[in-house]
Amino acid sequence: MVDFTLSPRQKELREIALDFAIRKMIPSAEKSDRIADPAAAFDWDIVREASRLGLRTMTVPKVWGGEGADVLTCAMVGECLAYGDLGMGVAFDQTWKIMTMIAHLTTDEQRKRWMPLVVNDPTCVLAAAATEPMSGSDSILPYNHPDGGVRMTAVKKGDRWVLNGTKRYISNGGIAKVIYVMARTDLSKPPLESMSGFLLTDKTPGYKCTEVWDKLGQRCVQNGTLEFTNCEIPEEDRIGKPGQALIELGQLLTRFGSNIQAGATVLGVAQRCYDVSLQYARERVQSGVPIFEHQIQKTRLARMTMLLDAARNYLWYSAWGAGINPDVRVGSMSKVFASEASAKVAMDAFELWAATGYMKKNPIEKLLRDALSFIHSDGTNDVLTLKSGNFLGTIERNDPRWSQRVNEAAMGL
Ligand SMILES: Cc1cc2nc3c(=O)[nH]c(=O)nc-3n(C[C@H](O)[C@H](O)[C@H](O)COP(=O)(O)OP(=O)(O)OC[C@H]3O[C@@H](n4cnc5c(N)ncnc54)[C@H](O)[C@@H]3O)c2cc1C
Repeated sequence: MVDFTLSPRQKELREIALDFAIRKMIPSAEKSDRIADPAAAFDWDIVREASRLGLRTMTVPKVWGGEGADVLTCAMVGECLAYGDLGMGVAFDQTWKIMTMIAHLTTDEQRKRWMPLVVNDPTCVLAAAATEPMSGSDSILPYNHPDGGVRMTAVKKGDRWVLNGTKRYISNGGIAKVIYVMARTDLSKPPLESMSGFLLTDKTPGYKCTEVWDKLGQRCVQNGTLEFTNCEIPEEDRIGKPGQALIELGQLLTRFGSNIQAGATVLGVAQRCYDVSLQYARERVQSGVPIFEHQIQKTRLARMTMLLDAARNYLWYSAWGAGINPDVRVGSMSKVFASEASAKVAMDAFELWAATGYMKKNPIEKLLRDALSFIHSDGTNDVLTLKSGNFLGTIERNDPRWSQRVNEAAMGL
């Protein structure tokens, strides 16, 4: 049975995260968001303090000194952090997801080498690199033909792999100290059989961040282009099953909660849009009364809460399932729903605030820019919905829901 009664620890983590978001992240983001150079905007003090609070290592297994949090707890805490700032929230959320993946895909021996790097350095954030200039959605909805998908190559040379290629738009690109990267080990085979995953550090020779992208929103985190030039990685740092990285990426998006956590972070933006709008509507007077008293604004706010509640419940339901009985369909669709709902809530807030919301001094214009980012990030909503459509199932003749009349109608009778 689904039961969303929060554990004392979940309540505590939410309180810690929300307090940190309001006290530290919002003031920091107000400055960082306006820094013109995207490579200069990241606030390392936020990472250090979050680390001290235990918020950076949420998914590091307890045995290694982390919180050992499940997808549901990460979704709750991620929403609270993104309430402060989406970009900074993403810096942590990426670290959590990739850590979950690493914990699942590595051997004991690999964990012994990699976990301390993450745990012991309070500024260690992680990145996962799939997207390339010529391969975006091909990694999310695999185009399983040898000439499609990722072009980055990994060629075996003795006991080492030599990586060559370019990744782009990578969250935490240029600030991550541990990077998970996917490359093709055989370009003559389809991507579903020929992609492998590798771990490296930012100090690995041949690895370089060559561009930090300037963006519409999420301006307080970096998205980088990562170049790999004869970058050598030892065989012991190849993780997961050989050739199966694309399947493992699919699992990251759904079973390991990447899409769900992504939806939860953008929901944090929508929640803040709602909260600042409620206050504004109560305090802004037009036609002699607070605008809240005008029916259209009151119903607008009520509709915003419907979307927030529906999106949160869908995400939490998917997150609950991720730990018990993973449903690939809802894992992605709850992200699609939450990101669309969040964009709608942000637009409603923009309408309610009117000209004041258009001004950079006030919170709405940044929130609106941030709210748009997850329409595409973590897989485009179109592609995730299309992929989920493959799991809709059928209604066969022996199914009690099967209807004779529907069958006749389909036959033109
Ligand atoms: C803020 C942000 C952060 C990101 N972080 C990361 C990261 O950390 N790591 C990483 O690897 N990537 C990251 N990405 C990249 C992201 O995952 C890709 O942008 C996404 O997968 C889409 O790729 P694309 O932009 O190249 O679009 P394309 O794949 O070129 O798509 C263009 C259009 O075609 C549609 N389309 C594509 N294929 C199909 C199809 N088969 N059927 C129907 N329609 C289709 C898409 O929906 C879209 O509308 C990030 C992106 C953003 C915006």
